[in-house]
Amino acid sequence: MPLSLNSRKGDCPNKCLKMVVNPVYCTVAYRTVLERGKMSDGGCLCGEVRYSATGKAESSLICHCVSCRRSTGAQSVAWVTFPSAGFSWLSGDPMEHRSSAEVRRTFCGRCGTSLTYRHDEDPDFIDVATATLNHPEEFPPTRHVWVEDGIGWDRVDDGLPWFERGTPLEGNPGT
Ligand SMILES: [Zn+2]
Ligand SMILES: [Zn+2]
Repeated sequence: MPLSLNSRKGDCPNKCLKMVVNPVYCTVAYRTVLERGKMSDGGCLCGEVRYSATGKAESSLICHCVSCRRSTGAQSVAWVTFPSAGFSWLSGDPMEHRSSAEVRRTFCGRCGTSLTYRHDEDPDFIDVATATLNHPEEFPPTRHVWVEDGIGWDRVDDGLPWFERGTPLEGNPGT
């Protein structure tokens, strides 16, 4: 799905002073996006931190690990894995927190929205919190991971495959 042209107007973070079609992209940036291919964009609740992710999503899953739960305040967290090379911050200055020795998570310092997850051993990939994407519906999860950490009432009964712990080749949130 292309970027919506019906989004509300806002300031152009690219400072190009051209007509703005949505809070993130001016018409100039929009054209650039179309030329370079499929991309996804998103950001935090207050709108200060915005990002874009290009390239093929490698994985889409729901993690139930304690670390994801605590860092977001949710019982489970959906993540989409993108190539790091195609990820960039468009606006704002996200805060970073190491939730374990090898894991860096980012969040908006103003509104607290959790945004990304990155494992030092997997520098080629970055996980983006699915719900922060402008079009999360484009990335339905295909599995649950770290179900052994799940809260008792957090039932996994949607028919998707689930795993007690992480699974390989998927960005491994929660490890
Ligand atoms: Zn924010
Ligand atoms: Zn996790």
